Amino acid sequence: MVTINGVPRSKANKEANIKLKKIYSELGINHCEECGYWFGLSFHHSHKRIWFYDKDPEWLGSHEHTLLLCAKCHLDAEISRERTKELFLKHRNYDIVD
Ligand SMILES: [Zn+2]
Repeated sequence: MVTINGVPRSKANKEANIKLKKIYSELGINHCEECGYWFGLSFHHSHKRIWFYDKDPEWLGSHEHTLLLCAKCHLDAEISRERTKELFLKHRNYDIVD
């Protein structure tokens, strides 16, 4: 089993999602941050999961490293690193350096 700091990876992902749902709920973010739509909402991470496992797995569940996006905006971001960088700069003032 793959573990992160002794915690199984699947459990770490699940815990991060629970944490994110709480954070976004408290911030009142319940729609796509880019287009305002609400269909197929999910969290888009600033980096691939492996990057978080190498740095700090806690960041998987942080507001700074995630965006709430609809299915369309999430797909656009998934297929383009540049698009992801644009979105994080715009919505988090986070200038991603790979
Ligand atoms: Zn959207």
